[in-house]
Amino acid sequence: MSMNNINRRKSHEVKVGNISVGGNNPVIVQSMTDTNTSDIEKTTEQIIQLAEAGSEIVRVTVNDSDAMQAIPYIKESLIKSGITVPIVGDFHFNGHILLNKYKTEAGCLDKFRINPGNVGKKNKKDKNFTTMIETACELNKPVRIGVNWGSLDQELLASNLDANNKLSKPKTLDEVMCDSVITSALENAKLAESLGMGKDKIIISCKLSKVNMLIKVYKKISEICDYALHLGLTEAGSNERGVVYSACALGPLLLDGIGDTIRVSLTTDINGSRSKEVEVAKLILQSLGIRYFLPDVTSCPGCGRTSSDYFQKLASDIDKHIKINMPTWKKDYPGVENLKISVMGCIVNGPGESKHADIGISLPGRGENPTAPVYIDGQKNVTLKGNNITNDFKEILFNYIESRFKT
Ligand code: SF4
Repeated sequence: MSMNNINRRKSHEVKVGNISVGGNNPVIVQSMTDTNTSDIEKTTEQIIQLAEAGSEIVRVTVNDSDAMQAIPYIKESLIKSGITVPIVGDFHFNGHILLNKYKTEAGCLDKFRINPGNVGKKNKKDKNFTTMIETACELNKPVRIGVNWGSLDQELLASNLDANNKLSKPKTLDEVMCDSVITSALENAKLAESLGMGKDKIIISCKLSKVNMLIKVYKKISEICDYALHLGLTEAGSNERGVVYSACALGPLLLDGIGDTIRVSLTTDINGSRSKEVEVAKLILQSLGIRYFLPDVTSCPGCGRTSSDYFQKLASDIDKHIKINMPTWKKDYPGVENLKISVMGCIVNGPGESKHADIGISLPGRGENPTAPVYIDGQKNVTLKGNNITNDFKEILFNYIESRFKT
């Protein structure tokens, strides 16, 4: 696992089930189900899908008694399926009631997410929060104090806005919002500590949906506390928007060493796979050289020099080939995820790019000889010809993997 030259911010290590977040541990990928938690079968099935896609922690909503009572059955089904991914319960509004009433069920969760903006109003707020923290302490569970600007404590915001209006140079509304999100997280973390919870049991998140504001908030909070941080752009959207906005939000922070666990919040397409958010989170980490999950396939976009769509098909075929084979390769060839492959469309950048990869192929462009040189460890190894280039290249790739990674 490469960390490049990124200096990770120092944070307390928090154990969440069998996974450690923060400290010197790798940045953990997590996700959340969108099933009705009380539907044990569907929720279990989706947790398995997310875990198999690479989610190292999975959160489920716990919004009522049925959801809470389903937790032990979900956990049991997961264990029967050999899935040990930690499960986090997401509590809002009635979390204090559920956690107090269903302690056995709560004990099957590996962490509680508490949103301090949704624990109650006025004098109930601290009381309800206290109940949840006391249960967490009693059951020896960590918590995430997860602030979201969409459900920010309105009394805190109003009070901060009042104070701001009295300043000779008032801050902008966005600045007051950012400050209030941070204050809410830190004040509640301090309250949790005053109730006996250690810093090794607290993870903080401050989620907003505006990229620039999110970056400012995390940069600031990372400087003034040493709690483990969960990063995520809330409500990132769907498709390209969700992917690009999340990458632009998380990238600068991760490069600055900020963030101990990440979640990409994508709106799932109808009939789309929930696992996409896990794939995107892994790609963000891999693109920054923070963690490697799959061999990297570099391919050019193609242009007027590309004589056919053959190279696009090859690039996509190699991508699929890797994804299909990775579960086996990961077991048989440790370290294979660090492999760099390049698939290029013509002679302009093909040979050069292929030499930067561990193994690369440069296909013939328009007007070039119908041959495809293959480079291994920077040296031209063989030139492929004919109609079987894809399979020939897959065979070369497999032989390379076997010779380099077999233990
Ligand atoms: S490598 Fe060749 S085919 Fe690919 S984009 Fe560059 S010039 Fe075009």
